[in-house]
Amino acid sequence: MPGFVMTTAAVLTCLHQGPVTITPSGPPRVLMDGVPVVGAADQMMVACPKNICANVVWGNLSTRVLADGQPIVLQAVPPAGSPVTADGVCVPPVPPASPPALVDSMIPRAIAT
Ligand SMILES: [Zn+2]
Repeated sequence: MPGFVMTTAAVLTCLHQGPVTITPSGPPRVLMDGVPVVGAADQMMVACPKNICANVVWGNLSTRVLADGQPIVLQAVPPAGSPVTADGVCVPPVPPASPPALVDSMIPRAIAT
């Protein structure tokens, strides 16, 4: 689905307020505002204070825009005034359902599909 293009400057946390670190899979190929765009192969590791969440698997990837041949990570445009529920989930899964990661801050610059 269309969404804002995520960069490594986005601030993400798990539902337990654990910060998410985005680790690029290689040298950045595409920059937005001077910051690398997050690609599908980049790792999102969670420093979960409860040691539940290990990493984030992103569910909203671009289909028409590629960076260095790989899809880029997109965040659906949130409803106004509500906390942003990320288009990614924390893994390993926690019964009954994997909690979504949270987007604490993200500068919306471009929308891609
Ligand atoms: Zn967590």
